[in-house]
Amino acid sequence: MSTVPEYFGSMVFDDRVMRASLSADVYQSLRKTIDEGSELDIGVANAVAQAMKDWAVGHGATHFTHWFQPLTGITAEKHDSFISPAPDGSVIMEFSGKELIKGEPDASSFPSGGLRATFEARGYTAWDPTSYAFIKGKTLCIPTAFCSYGGHALDKKTPLLRSMEALSHEAIRILRLFGNDTVKRVVSSVGPEQEYFLITKEMYEKRPDLRFTGRTLFGARPPKGQELSDHYFGVIKPRVIAFMEDLNDELWKLGILAKTEHNEVAPAQHELAPIYSTTNIATDHNQLTMEIMQKVAGRHGLVCLLHEKPFAGVNGSGKHNNWSIATDSGQNLLSPGETPYENAQFLLFLCAVIKAVDDYQDLLRLSVATAGNDHRLGANEAPPAVISMFLGDELNAVLEAIETDTPYKGSERMQMKLGVDVLPKFNRDNTDRNRTSPFAFTGNKFEFRMLGSSNSIACANIMLNAAVAESLRIYADRLEKAEDFETALHDMIKKTIKDHRRIIFNGNGYDEAWIKEAVCERGLLNYRTTADAMPHILDEKNVKMLTGLKVFTIDELRSRRDIMLENYCKSVVIEANTMVDMARMQIAPAVEAYAAEIAKAASAKKDIVPDIDCGYEKALIKKLSGLAGEIFEKTEKLETALMKVPGADDIVEEGYIIRDEILPVMSELRAPCDKAELLTAKSFWPFPTYQDLLFGVD
Ligand code: ADP
Ligand code: MG
Repeated sequence: MSTVPEYFGSMVFDDRVMRASLSADVYQSLRKTIDEGSELDIGVANAVAQAMKDWAVGHGATHFTHWFQPLTGITAEKHDSFISPAPDGSVIMEFSGKELIKGEPDASSFPSGGLRATFEARGYTAWDPTSYAFIKGKTLCIPTAFCSYGGHALDKKTPLLRSMEALSHEAIRILRLFGNDTVKRVVSSVGPEQEYFLITKEMYEKRPDLRFTGRTLFGARPPKGQELSDHYFGVIKPRVIAFMEDLNDELWKLGILAKTEHNEVAPAQHELAPIYSTTNIATDHNQLTMEIMQKVAGRHGLVCLLHEKPFAGVNGSGKHNNWSIATDSGQNLLSPGETPYENAQFLLFLCAVIKAVDDYQDLLRLSVATAGNDHRLGANEAPPAVISMFLGDELNAVLEAIETDTPYKGSERMQMKLGVDVLPKFNRDNTDRNRTSPFAFTGNKFEFRMLGSSNSIACANIMLNAAVAESLRIYADRLEKAEDFETALHDMIKKTIKDHRRIIFNGNGYDEAWIKEAVCERGLLNYRTTADAMPHILDEKNVKMLTGLKVFTIDELRSRRDIMLENYCKSVVIEANTMVDMARMQIAPAVEAYAAEIAKAASAKKDIVPDIDCGYEKALIKKLSGLAGEIFEKTEKLETALMKVPGADDIVEEGYIIRDEILPVMSELRAPCDKAELLTAKSFWPFPTYQDLLFGVD
């Protein structure tokens, strides 16, 4: 058995392999493309393709695929084998530069939100050389972007790369003003912490709701849940350990920096965090991680649930998006510096983020909006749907001092003037661990905590990168024209703090009173559902910013709104249909059967003891019958409500119907079913209960 350093990245066509297998010239040009985004010459592409194929075939690969991330939120691949017939009846393995650079999958079944007419159904995929190719199973996977022939992005990678470009461009303008003449690129990095549940496959198979929707649509709370917090960081069970070991091996072979693993708050809930990497690679890796988690779970007789809220009343799963920006020489721009001058630069970048989060609360909120995540945000376990920022006491005091022109307590000087040599040196505050803030500064990075566990992290990072790029653009425009840089800088930081102070909140984000204050006093947005949030992607200010930075075209924005809302509506309709089926075909019959059994028992008793009163049986039968009646009635009601969905004028209205007329009735139907579960003998209940599911893995 080889050691981790020996097999880490063994399935990746990474820099080591490139250097070893390409000629010096080819390697240099490829490196230039990767580092600086320069165009790839076809001669170079042919040489790279040849080396990639030889390497892949040497590792047992027979196929290649352009691996991409359509707007469904998962990854897509169509496999082609390398074989090419030779005249003598044999085959040779071939792969050309053209095939490497561009693919043309028949993409007519991927959502395009009207961007691609059916007559030109073929989109094309284009190699993203900044993300290494890798082997999965017997297939060489080439990370690619996916576009329509009109050049519109049909995927999540294209706008992500554009947002990284915009951020880099604007950040460099700022750094030049601070005298940095050497920086060529500024990159955003992300470390996504991934939560998930593990349950046994055997039980999963017995629950249509889990199989069709990824979450339980029924289920009474178990007698023991997460009250004792005895699962968090608890000893990991042997079967789960075996899963994690296997998972780590698979991830490491793919060059994914899986680092931390532990049990989470809820029973059966776990977390995996990788070491952070460049945003687009972190995004590719997170997609792969989710896929491999599910695959490896299967090998262990388990199912990995990535849904945001698999169990009502039990903590759901999220993803913490730890985000920072750094120069190509590795300077973290969100890290307070050693000198006052560096600190002025740090404060400017900090202000850019503050301004971005306040100005584009709506974009951040909608970037994480899905039917699944709606169950989590604001449920006293995850951040609320209201966006606010946590900075910690130290930074807060610094900002306050600047805003009010008052002395900062940590400073020996009397007055703070920014950008010149009187800015105090302050230490980064690592100790403060506010866990309830949707967007927390954690020393040298921001932790955006609203993402759902199944979300692609692309969307959140596109919006985050773009919004911060926009703040920096506005700052750079002003500062480049300023007569006195330091005064202009000071004024601008001061103005940002004054204008955007409302977004900073250091208290308990789960508190009801906060939501009231946020909305009523501070005027912060509270888009509780996907139906509320998503239409705002087309608000004038958002369109202006996103198209201005060339992150999206207006058509792409329209299509994204439609696709995300369609996804929301379809997911809920599938849930509602599944509920109707389960209630009618499984739950109601079980309740009836149990009532009949009790009745039978009662009459049998009466046969033996004629004057027995059977009070218990009567009461129970009455209750069960009442509940069965209610289940019947609510099932009909849900079915009737569902008929309104196809009648909606457009997708926005359909979203409102889902929000107002479907989801509430689903809750109405669930209530009597869950009550009935607690009154029905376990042997009669048609599927595994919460207790079985949550405590079933040994
Ligand atoms: P927590 O206490 O919230 O679980 P961790 O220390 O486990 O936090 O780190 C969470 C994630 O943050 C990890 O993926 C880590 O690699 C990442 N991270 C650390 N520093 C940075 C940074 N400068 N930029 C982006 N991500 C970072
Ligand atoms: Mg965290």
